[in-house]
Amino acid sequence: MNSVQILERLIGFPTVSRDSNLALIEYVRDFLSARGVDSRLYPDASGRKANLYACVGPSERGGILLSGHTDVVPVDGQRWSSDPFRLQERGARLFARGAADMKGFLACALRAAGLAAARPLRLPLQLAFSYDEEVGCLGVRSLIDDMSRWSHRPAFCIVGEPTMLRTAVGHKGKTALRATCHGRAAHSAAPDRGVNAIHMAGDLIGHIRRRQAGIAHGGARDPAYEVPYTTLHVGVIHGGTVLNIVPARCELEFEIRNLPADDPAALVSAIRADAAAVARSMHGDCDAGGDDVRIDFELVHEYPGLDTPSDSPVVELAAALTGNRERIKVGFGTEGGLFSGRLGIATVVCGPGSIDQAHRSDEFVALDQLQRCDAMMDSLLDRLA
Ligand SMILES: [Zn+2]
Repeated sequence: MNSVQILERLIGFPTVSRDSNLALIEYVRDFLSARGVDSRLYPDASGRKANLYACVGPSERGGILLSGHTDVVPVDGQRWSSDPFRLQERGARLFARGAADMKGFLACALRAAGLAAARPLRLPLQLAFSYDEEVGCLGVRSLIDDMSRWSHRPAFCIVGEPTMLRTAVGHKGKTALRATCHGRAAHSAAPDRGVNAIHMAGDLIGHIRRRQAGIAHGGARDPAYEVPYTTLHVGVIHGGTVLNIVPARCELEFEIRNLPADDPAALVSAIRADAAAVARSMHGDCDAGGDDVRIDFELVHEYPGLDTPSDSPVVELAAALTGNRERIKVGFGTEGGLFSGRLGIATVVCGPGSIDQAHRSDEFVALDQLQRCDAMMDSLLDRLA
């Protein structure tokens, strides 16, 4: 099967992150086993989703790991010109949810694994297909935990997120948090008898914005990123019930997208201190202070940034495979920071299609990108043989 035919099959499984990916994983497992390759599955607690790991060639040696996620973002509320879960070819472009992000790469990796199985390899080709990447790089962690105990880990990892087959050596890390402001309810005719949780949230947002301004003007910078500094942003706020009650509770969700050079934990500690100061300042608003007026924090999810040195052998490898020596850093996150940070595997991000098409209606990957990815895989197999 060629990579377009495989992609057509992968697209047909509607693996939106909230739903099961098992049908796709079973298809991949069967595809590999028909070619004599065993897979290992890492199911989640519910048994509805799984990671898949497979190794083609000598498993007692560290080879090259092709990593990708099987889940896709939803199509809810988007207007598509054709069924998002059926591959549509129009004008040398292949349209479908996940065509670029990132089933196109998975299809090329599977085609390569099939070819690899038919020839003797000196070093193995390894595959890691994950779930729940789009909701915070969650699924792959069980595979990474297992790999941390292996004596033979992959030497290099290529994460096939869409970069137009340019080699990305870095991406930012992300920390998503929920802050819950606990105030005190009161009749709005006597607001000073309560503590307004929405006002607390407003003050906290002010601190977050001041910290962002400080970082933008005086923080670490890396001009290789489109936004060359660490960013902070509040994306969700919920508070209050009706206008004539002083709100007792307000929740906000915010995120830090940090340059690998910046420590997000230090920033979180600073924001926690800001929040404690906000809560203290509210104690004067009512008769008595107390622990009930406070701001609690909860980590929603986090993943580390990726920062692979430009002279790393994996960067040379990617340049040789793609014939392109350009090195970029990307704004979006990937599982690469986990493979690199947790396991010490030299990692780059390099895959077909553009992130500009990801997560949108009428997502597509150009046919030419898939063909170039196949060529990259062919040259990878020559190196492994
Ligand atoms: Zn992706």
